[in-house]
Amino acid sequence: MKILVTGGLGYIGANTVIALAEAGYEAIILDNLSNSRMAVLGDIEGILDREVPFYKGDLLDEKFLEGVFNKEHPDGVVHFAGLKAVGESVALPLKYFENNVAGTLNLLKVMKAFEVYRVVFSSSATVYDPQNPPPFTEDMPLGPTNPYGDSKWMVEGILRRLSETHDPWAIGILRYFNPLGAHESGLLGEDPRGIPNNLMPYITRVAKGELKFLRIFGSDYDTMDGTGVRDYIHVADLARGHLMALTALSRGRGLGIYNLGTGRGHSVLEVVRTFERVNAVKIPYEYHSRRPGDVAVSFADTSKAAKALGFKASISLETMCRDAWRYEKTKK
Ligand code: NAD
Ligand code: UDP
Repeated sequence: MKILVTGGLGYIGANTVIALAEAGYEAIILDNLSNSRMAVLGDIEGILDREVPFYKGDLLDEKFLEGVFNKEHPDGVVHFAGLKAVGESVALPLKYFENNVAGTLNLLKVMKAFEVYRVVFSSSATVYDPQNPPPFTEDMPLGPTNPYGDSKWMVEGILRRLSETHDPWAIGILRYFNPLGAHESGLLGEDPRGIPNNLMPYITRVAKGELKFLRIFGSDYDTMDGTGVRDYIHVADLARGHLMALTALSRGRGLGIYNLGTGRGHSVLEVVRTFERVNAVKIPYEYHSRRPGDVAVSFADTSKAAKALGFKASISLETMCRDAWRYEKTKK
């Protein structure tokens, strides 16, 4: 089966291309390189020891999309392409709605025109209303608190309505919790431009000496050690979740929404201590005030993905920390 992977040179997309190819799918990559590098294609091909078709272009360019579908006639799409920086989305909401919502609309229109009705969409735990008590279940009320989250919520709404039409859509919405780590080869990690916003890329740059110390946002949360708790999932586990979602879609039409997490929360301090222990490096840190918009605790209820997809994350926080550091040390 031929799968078009939008955003396939990005962090999660690239790792999923590997998982797809290793499971026997034919993966085709589409990316505009707005947040990724061409070198990643070489890394993917190196790991797989074969060429992977790549199309450079933008979801906002409908003609380009038609060209790709005309040439490749994919059987399905795994749709990662999107902008994902929460802070930037607050400053530039229209950019986020255009790229993430209008870009997805173009993709769906072209899919329908070519009668490709199978799609897995990258959503996020940020769609949940933060008032919900964790663990988050898929049927809890939604209520994103920033334009990035809104863009995911809007696309979820579009996909839900599409699944109610007469067309035979088979749609998987995956709500990722906090992906960490890299491919075991030491390639295909998370490489944000500039100063990282997320915890692990910040930690690895402190470990490398490029940043002096980690600022821990909040030490007075109602958690085991006062720092924020999140559900960190290894990117290889996440990639595997996409395979299982695709298998479920092949069983028929409809819409399925699934959390992808481990179901376990770890505090910021736990992540720091684990990183220090497994990598034998020191991470200096200082406590800062809470980051606006952060919740104290977020972790997934994973029972639906386990029951419906047979998905269970298995890679430990130790491995996530080891793989993230290996990637940072060796990245070009
Ligand atoms: P990423 O930025 O590494 O990958 C996204 C890729 O999409 C990039 O290579 C970028 O160049 C490409 N892209 C963006 N807009 C495009 C467009 N209009 N046309 C073509 N290509 C475009 O991000 P990631 O971490 O791999 O995330 C992948 C998806 O998962 C995103 O939709 C993101 O919102 C979602 N997600 C990520 C996280 C996370 O913490 N990384 C958590 C939840 C959800
Ligand atoms: N965090 C932190 N310092 C940083 C970045 C993040 O203390 O430099 C904390 C943040 O407050 C949250 C956790 O680490 O409790 C995960 O944050 P991240 O931005 O990685 O993911 P989020 O859950 O916000 O999407």
